[in-house]
Amino acid sequence: MPINEEFLKKLATTPRATGYEFVAQKLIKDYLENDVDKVKSDKVGNVYAIINPESPFKIMLAGHIDQIGFQISHIDDDGYLWIRPLGGFDTTTLPGKRVTVCGKNGNILGVIGKKAIHLMKAEDRKKAPEMEKLFIDIGCKDKEEALKKVDVADFAVFDYGYDRLGDNNFAVASGFDDSIGSFIVAEIMKELAKDKSFFASVYGVSTVQEEIGMRGAHVAAKAILPDIGIAFDVGHTADAPEMDKKIVGDTKLGGGPIISIGPNLNPIVVKKLMSIAEENDIPYQKHAANRGTGTDANALQLTGAATGLVGIPNRYMHTASEIISLDDIENIVKLVVIFIRSIKEGDSFLPV
Ligand SMILES: [Zn+2]
Repeated sequence: MPINEEFLKKLATTPRATGYEFVAQKLIKDYLENDVDKVKSDKVGNVYAIINPESPFKIMLAGHIDQIGFQISHIDDDGYLWIRPLGGFDTTTLPGKRVTVCGKNGNILGVIGKKAIHLMKAEDRKKAPEMEKLFIDIGCKDKEEALKKVDVADFAVFDYGYDRLGDNNFAVASGFDDSIGSFIVAEIMKELAKDKSFFASVYGVSTVQEEIGMRGAHVAAKAILPDIGIAFDVGHTADAPEMDKKIVGDTKLGGGPIISIGPNLNPIVVKKLMSIAEENDIPYQKHAANRGTGTDANALQLTGAATGLVGIPNRYMHTASEIISLDDIENIVKLVVIFIRSIKEGDSFLPV
């Protein structure tokens, strides 16, 4: 089942900072509308694609569409934009980065500015920049000019496109965390829609606001009350310099879905995912998750669902250039489609 790379590119390059996901969510809606039984949204901005709604056994799939970004907090007299983070940044990665500012009159280019190294005190060179001291330069001469383009509470995201990297089916973009999760849910729904003769009802949800506490997933999971919930989010790989296998496990790009195991996850769901992978020659990787995972899987479990977390191997998470493997994406879609089709009436997910 080949994936739709054009749509992935479109999604990955559509600005969709946490709380500002609406344009991207419309893309998801349009993409699935003609394939699934029903598409709907809710008041926080989640988009739901539903297949077999009449079945009493509900499976919810969650991939969060939002990416980390910046909210404009102040525009100063010289026309510079001061920012607050939407999600978690490593500020050492920010100075000099280009951003797309989604202003009131359209998107414009901006640059994150910072004092040059030549002018810094020796002790300051060793410190990470403070978020409060970073700003966006949009090339305006003063506040009046800036205000024609941008307003307080507009947002910005990294301005880097989608590209292939190397010759191993790798792709690089900003914010694959988690356009890729939302994309995978959409591809699973497309594939399931081709033959709906399976037992469960499936709710493919493109969730919002994960980066500030899984807020969309909480709302969606409460509304659906699924029997099984599977979240799709990026997972660290240990195949880059300085990554520690003792902490992240022995994971790599192209190594297949990362299946999380631990208190946040239902052992029967986990076991089933692994045995399906083995029976179908799908490579997979194990991740020991020792607590709540900080993903939509957390929200799913807390509504009582038998929860799974399928990780998308990812290098350089929360930087302007995150790398993923398209082979992993295909394998995740394949694995979860087979999983859903295998669910039969009477299957139990009670661990005791
Ligand atoms: Zn994420």
